[in-house]
Amino acid sequence: MDPKLIDTHTHVNFQAFKSDSDEVIQRSLDSGVWMINAGTKFETSRAAVELAENYSDGVYAAVSLHPIHLFEHHVDISEEGRSFNGAGEEFDMDAYRDLISRSIKVVAIGEFGLDYYRLPKNVDPEEIKQKQKEVMIEHIKLAREVNKPLMIHCRPSEGTMDAYEDVLKILDQYCVLFSPPREGAMSGEVRGFEIHCFTGSSDIAQEFVKRGGYIALNGIITFDKSGRSDEVVKNLPLEWAILETDAPYLTPMPHRGKRNEPSYVRYVAEKFAEMKGIEPAEVERVTTANARKLFRI
Ligand SMILES: [Zn+2]
Repeated sequence: MDPKLIDTHTHVNFQAFKSDSDEVIQRSLDSGVWMINAGTKFETSRAAVELAENYSDGVYAAVSLHPIHLFEHHVDISEEGRSFNGAGEEFDMDAYRDLISRSIKVVAIGEFGLDYYRLPKNVDPEEIKQKQKEVMIEHIKLAREVNKPLMIHCRPSEGTMDAYEDVLKILDQYCVLFSPPREGAMSGEVRGFEIHCFTGSSDIAQEFVKRGGYIALNGIITFDKSGRSDEVVKNLPLEWAILETDAPYLTPMPHRGKRNEPSYVRYVAEKFAEMKGIEPAEVERVTTANARKLFRI
């Protein structure tokens, strides 16, 4: 059956769902919501693939090494009442390539990218950023090789757009997103991209759209009081929007404070429709079509 909505980025593969992942997934599928579980290190990438393989339809995987896991450090998500440890992993491209070859349900490379918001305290910030960029480029190379779209994580340092600006530079240098290719670009196509959990300015969103990128919005739009989400949604063409939950994090209203889950993507869709002044059914139809096109599902 065709999905009503697609949670394009979620983590039922995480510990938070260890005891009830099957119930959570079934609840989501029963409500017409498909999902892509994203891995953030090798272990959670493998778990995402295993979950996807357990279902015939509607559950897919993305694999990657998240920038937060490049160094060993304590990561405090105090606004979510959680914390975890950065794994300090090296990106083993052969291992990821092998993982991808094991399942046709791996539909994207992600979430990889740049995170300048929570830098490990014990390492020189420039060294960390350099490492993040190198690993980001490795992911792009792998994505091109296996012909999968990019699911990009990008979080700038407080009050800036720095990481977005660097992602744009890397995309322009390493991805041929348009023909004719930009000057200095490497040959070879990437199979599309999206910016997951977009929290940048409307101007930055337009820069990604210009390059053929989808903007992924989540529960943040239901509780953002800064006005930035309004601006982004207002100016974003519906054809370039996709929806996600990033569960277990970023729980949308009215369930703020509880664990998030894929079926809650409907609250994101409802809020998006309200902000844009269009019918929820239109949001469901177009964002689902966008996600199916990008991820070929
Ligand atoms: Zn995520």
